[in-house]
Amino acid sequence: MSIPTQQRTINRETGCSGIGLHSGKTVHLTLKPAPVNHGIKFVRKDLPDDPVIPARFNRVVDTSLATVIGSDGVIVSTIEHLMACLAGLSIDNIIVELDSYEVPVMDGSAGPFTSMILAAGIREQDASRHFFVLEEPIELEQDGKFVGAYPDTTFKISCNIEFEHPLIRKQSCSIEVVDCIFEREISSARTFGFLHEVEYMKQYGLARGGSLDNAVVIDKNQILNKGGLRYRDEFVRHKLLDCIGDFSLLGMPILGHIVTSKSGHAFNHAFLEKFFRKKTSWQTKTLHNSSDPLHKTVKSLAI
Ligand SMILES: [Zn+2]
Repeated sequence: MSIPTQQRTINRETGCSGIGLHSGKTVHLTLKPAPVNHGIKFVRKDLPDDPVIPARFNRVVDTSLATVIGSDGVIVSTIEHLMACLAGLSIDNIIVELDSYEVPVMDGSAGPFTSMILAAGIREQDASRHFFVLEEPIELEQDGKFVGAYPDTTFKISCNIEFEHPLIRKQSCSIEVVDCIFEREISSARTFGFLHEVEYMKQYGLARGGSLDNAVVIDKNQILNKGGLRYRDEFVRHKLLDCIGDFSLLGMPILGHIVTSKSGHAFNHAFLEKFFRKKTSWQTKTLHNSSDPLHKTVKSLAI
């Protein structure tokens, strides 16, 4: 198994339509190939002058219900599942055009985005990928929540969740985000919510687009979706998907092991700020050949 060492984009334009989870509005999403070192940028095509918002942690303006990025009063909401898909497929450069403020929720997972991108094809570009390479651990702990990042020769992520609910309790999942592992093990895990929370949010005009078509909904002791779960531990797999999306907001892939426990978007974001402040704990490097031992292949970059 290996991590791509060259930057990647998609082969051709692709897109889809769906509804926004919170707005309930139909939105069209178009993905376009982008040149090297462009990164991932969202474009609001419904607004004058097509404002652009880079998908970076320093553009995050809200994490209460979804990850929202913004710039000069223009926002794009609920980016996390698309971001997870792009990171999971090692896409570095892409233009994401939207005709509304929210990314379509699709089926509540990253599966539809993943299938769409794989159908369009992935193209390797003529430039090396830049990685954050951990040199020493970085940890953040507060109120029983924990996130840590540790040196490793690949990108690994491990999540633990714990809910006082008979259908969830404690679950943990650990993967190496390489090759087709994301597509196979994580991309189809759907977001989930408890019935009383969904009813509460709808009462206040939130989650207008939320339904059993785009979320696993859990009552006191049963899953309300007719088809049940897609994975036995779909809940923790979705948390892991969310984490991959949140950590991709660093703007470059990580070479290291991320460990989270009872974390969510807000706490992941607090960790990203600490990560970026601790500049002595990591370096940015390119890898010439991921199959070689890391210490022989890294080349330092100035940032
Ligand atoms: Zn999610």
